[in-house]
Amino acid sequence: MAKIFCIANQKGGVGKTTTTVNLAAGLAKVGQRVLVVDLDPQGNATMGSGIDKRALELSIYDVLLESSSVQEAKQHSEKAGYDVLGANRELAGAEVELVELERRERRLKAALASVDKDYDFVLIDCPPSLSMLTLNGLCCAHGVIVPMQCEYFALEGLSDLVNTIKQVHANLNADLQIIGLLRVMFDPRITLQNQVSDQLKAHFGDKVFDTVIPRNVRLAEAPSYGLPGVVFDPSSKGAQAFVEFAREMVRRIETM
Ligand code: ADP
Ligand code: MG
Repeated sequence: MAKIFCIANQKGGVGKTTTTVNLAAGLAKVGQRVLVVDLDPQGNATMGSGIDKRALELSIYDVLLESSSVQEAKQHSEKAGYDVLGANRELAGAEVELVELERRERRLKAALASVDKDYDFVLIDCPPSLSMLTLNGLCCAHGVIVPMQCEYFALEGLSDLVNTIKQVHANLNADLQIIGLLRVMFDPRITLQNQVSDQLKAHFGDKVFDTVIPRNVRLAEAPSYGLPGVVFDPSSKGAQAFVEFAREMVRRIETM
C-alpha cells in the first residue's frame, strides 16, 4: 500500500518543489517506487522531473475532472527514476470548475486509490495556498511534510497551516497528521537560523526531521537541466542531504 504525503506550506518559495522532486529521486535511489503528483499550476515539479509541461496530453487536471485515470495520465521520468502526474496552467481552471462538482475535495483520493499497489510513496507537490487543490491533496494524504526556512516569520505562517490540517483531520481525513517539519536552505553560519531551528525543536520536538537540508546552489541549478539535484549532482551536499532524508522517511513509515 502506498504511503501518500503532501509537501505543503502556503508560502511560496520555501522549497516545496525542491523537496518533492529531490525526496522522490532520493527514494527512487534507495529502491522505492515513487509517484510525484504535481498539484501546482506552475508545473515546476513536472519540469524539474524532466517532463515538458507544455507537451502534456493528459495531466492532473484531467484526473481531477475524471476524464482520465492516473494510469493513463502518468508519465515515467527515466532520468529522475520515478513516475510523474504532471501539471500545467490548465490546472488553474480546475480550482473554479471543482467548486461546482460533487465530492470536489475527494477527487484525488478516489483517483489515487487505483494505483495504491503500484507505489511505495506518492508525493504531492502542493501550490502555495490553502485552496481546493491543496485540500484535495490533504484529503488523501497520510501525512504532511512541511519544508521551512529557519527565518523570523517562519513560525507565524505555520499556525495557519497547522489549523487547516486540524480542520481537515477533524472533518475530512482522520488519517492526516503532520509527519514533520523539514529545515531547508539552512545556513549554519547564520546565528538567527540556529536560533529558529532550536525554537522549532523546542516547540515541535520529534516532529522536526533529523535531516537538515543545507542551502546549496546545485539544488537551485538542477531544475534548469530538467533534473532533481539528487540526479544532477549526486555528490553535492544538497543531494546527499536529500538521500539521507529519503532514508529517514523510509524509517518513519515503518513506524507509522
Ligand atoms: P516552492 O515550491 O515552495 O515555491 P521551490 O522549491 O521552488 O519553492 O524553491 C524556491 C527557490 O529556492 C528555487 O529557486 C529553488 O531552486 C531554491 N532552493 C530551494 N531549496 C534550495 C536549497 N536547499 N539551496 C539552494 N536553493 C534552494
Ligand atoms: Mg513550488
